[in-house]
Amino acid sequence: KKTEWAKLLHARTVSADGCHVKLAANIGTPEDVKGVLENGGEGIGLFRTEFLYMGRNQLPTEEEQFDAFKTVLEDMEEKPVVIRTLDIGGDKELPYLNLPEEMNPFLGFRAIRLCLELPDLFRTQLRALLRASVYGNLKIMFPMIATLDEFRSAKALLEEETQKLLSEGQRVAEKIELGIMVETPSAAILADQFAKEVDFFSIGTNDLIQYTMAADRMNQRVSYLYQPYSPSILRMVKMVIDAAHAEGKWAGMCGEMAGDERAIPLLLGLGLDEFSMSATSILKARSQILLLSKTEMKSLAEKALQMKTTNEVIEAVKEIFK
Ligand code: PEP
Ligand code: MG
Repeated sequence: KKTEWAKLLHARTVSADGCHVKLAANIGTPEDVKGVLENGGEGIGLFRTEFLYMGRNQLPTEEEQFDAFKTVLEDMEEKPVVIRTLDIGGDKELPYLNLPEEMNPFLGFRAIRLCLELPDLFRTQLRALLRASVYGNLKIMFPMIATLDEFRSAKALLEEETQKLLSEGQRVAEKIELGIMVETPSAAILADQFAKEVDFFSIGTNDLIQYTMAADRMNQRVSYLYQPYSPSILRMVKMVIDAAHAEGKWAGMCGEMAGDERAIPLLLGLGLDEFSMSATSILKARSQILLLSKTEMKSLAEKALQMKTTNEVIEAVKEIFK
């Protein structure tokens, strides 16, 4: 198997009936890029920037962040790199921000909510991203977006910082795609409206499943509800992909579901454009997709969308593997 996969290292990911999808990787630090290239990643679909802020006593400087982003963009050599702005809060705390304890951290002051309330922190990160943008193919993504207003506010700050940098004589890439994580049901339900304003979506199923099912992603006792194959999740994913395509935009997925062998046939059938997963899953996913017909997976997905229970979906997917 391993040697078979090695042959796929530089291959494009094309289904048996000739449709191309992109296989990208999720990374957490610049050191992870090596593994992405060694495993045939066609890009980075999610660069989590939390590492810059965690395990230390004060906020990272613009320069530190710029260095990290520039390194990743250069090492990826013009392949697309989606960098997500800070997603702190929830289970990830920053003691030095001295934020009050919350009853429901996952429903609280996290990610874009926190960044919009602490604009100095956010602007520093945006400036670092903008300055790094000239070193590769950067796309910027905002986490935990629930409303259009949040997206517009974040975009406005980014535009202000762009103007400031240009007036200071610094270089900024002419076009930087701007997207959102779709990980709140609100964003998924409003995807048709978001699609008119964003350049892309990346579906964050880790959170989207927890918020759709109202089941804590860390709580074993309710893990029976945490089901990527649930028809409700599949319908949500379909809404997002269709909304993107209706506006000529692309839709990716960077939650764990994107690298799940049993989910891949369904996601291919639903029309997902980019699958972003841990680097070590890429070659396996590529070898799987080469054998799948997108047309056939489309009819599988259409059937799954009409099913009533998770188990029915799982049984239908199992047939594919026979
Ligand atoms: C997600 O929610 O699916 C996601 C990719 O983000 P994180 O796991 O960092 O919350
Ligand atoms: Mg998330």
